[in-house]
Amino acid sequence: MSGLEDLYREIILDHYRNPRNRGELPSPPASRVEGFNPLCGDEIVVYLQLDDPSKGDDAVVTDVRIGGQGCSISQSSASMMSAAIGGRTVTEVKDLTKAFKSMMSIHEDELDGAEPAEAPDPAELRLGDLEALRGVVKFPVRIKCATLSWNTLLQAIDEAETTTA
Ligand code: ZN
Repeated sequence: MSGLEDLYREIILDHYRNPRNRGELPSPPASRVEGFNPLCGDEIVVYLQLDDPSKGDDAVVTDVRIGGQGCSISQSSASMMSAAIGGRTVTEVKDLTKAFKSMMSIHEDELDGAEPAEAPDPAELRLGDLEALRGVVKFPVRIKCATLSWNTLLQAIDEAETTTA
């Protein structure tokens, strides 16, 4: 088990030291949304480009770039996220977000007081490197670090869809 934890730590540090898709996109046409986690001082900027936002959830992520700074958990999560969502549809990205948050033991629907929705099975969604963040659940104060980029991404999708509507 400790071998697996070592591997996870290596993956997280690799994404932290060599962040994927680091940079900016011209906005517009890309959506640009900033997210903050005041508990830890983490900052994430998501630049999201969809092929055609008017297609709604069928739109495809054609490009994504990440800016910001913060702890290794927040920055590696953003890097892994950016690597995971390229070429996926908005529907797939939303499912992936749900799967990731459910791995982080967060169920938005329950927080909203609505009926708990069936979360997609993370195994089916090929979380890949994101699995390395599974250990964060043991440190509740860090969960917001891990989910910051995902919440920012959802806002970027909303913005992309409403700007063209
Ligand atoms: Zn943090």
